[in-house]
Amino acid sequence: MSLRPDLDLIVQELADEMRRRPDRGEVATYIPELARVDPSAFGMVVIDGDGRVSAGGDSDMPFSIQSVSKVFTLTLALGKAGDRLWRRVGREPSGSPFNSIVQLEREHGVPRNPFINAGAIAVTDAIVSGHQPREALGEILRFMQFLADDDTITIDEAVAASEQRTGFRNAALANYMKSFGVIENPVDYTLGVYFHHCAIAMSCRQLAMAGRFLAHSGVQPSTGRSVVTAERARRINAIMLTCGHYDGSGDFAYRVGLPGKSGVGGGILAVAPGKASIAVWSPGLDASGNSHLGRIALEALVKRTGWSIFGV
Ligand code: GLU
Repeated sequence: MSLRPDLDLIVQELADEMRRRPDRGEVATYIPELARVDPSAFGMVVIDGDGRVSAGGDSDMPFSIQSVSKVFTLTLALGKAGDRLWRRVGREPSGSPFNSIVQLEREHGVPRNPFINAGAIAVTDAIVSGHQPREALGEILRFMQFLADDDTITIDEAVAASEQRTGFRNAALANYMKSFGVIENPVDYTLGVYFHHCAIAMSCRQLAMAGRFLAHSGVQPSTGRSVVTAERARRINAIMLTCGHYDGSGDFAYRVGLPGKSGVGGGILAVAPGKASIAVWSPGLDASGNSHLGRIALEALVKRTGWSIFGV
């Protein structure tokens, strides 16, 4: 392995290989609009510390980032509430599916972590507090545009409406948390903002751009501007590693060994600390709701670069 792996070559080879594979997983159908996505799509982008972009496959095709947005809402909510945020959401892996309700009863309405649906709804509620829902959503979208250095990023209204029509489980989670006082705002305000930030559409290129601050101790390397402190970036990465793939988080750490966050749209943002920000997208999911080929591609990338945080 050379000190500087040939990322262009690796990413292109991986994209070609993934596109040829017959095993693609199943596209999410519980949000009807997501079922319309072409299951054969595959994209990957790696951006290294010098800002060099290596792209393969459908790297500029926007997709629904879904739960990957939760990394950025967590970052924003920590900026607003600081450590007070941890009073209403924990930071332990859940070992339960992304939309599970069972644990909420045992823990008095406090979700296990910010990356399962209940936890992300509680985090969204912290962003909504003191604002109209429209302002809160605008703040989230502008934050994404700022991080990606791209103000063309928008919300896919069809996806948001589709989830709003069918998100009964999320409504149940939010109402249940509200009964414990964990949700401060009207439930429909918080849920509306949650559904819309999950429906942000981004390409792998935009997502990898947005994740750079996590790979570089809180600093956006192109501008040198600090987004969060180094300590906060490290902690967000820790939560991504332990909780970023629902009840498949242990397996992702075992196979890939990078902090990462997946979404049911088939996207994964992964962070190689000090080295690169990586986004991969393939809409077919495995049984835990994580991108099947996305995970396989990241595992292969880490093998070829030696980037696992656990050693080569
Ligand atoms: N908006 C989706 C939901 O709440 C996000 C799920 C995900 O990507 O894990 O069901």
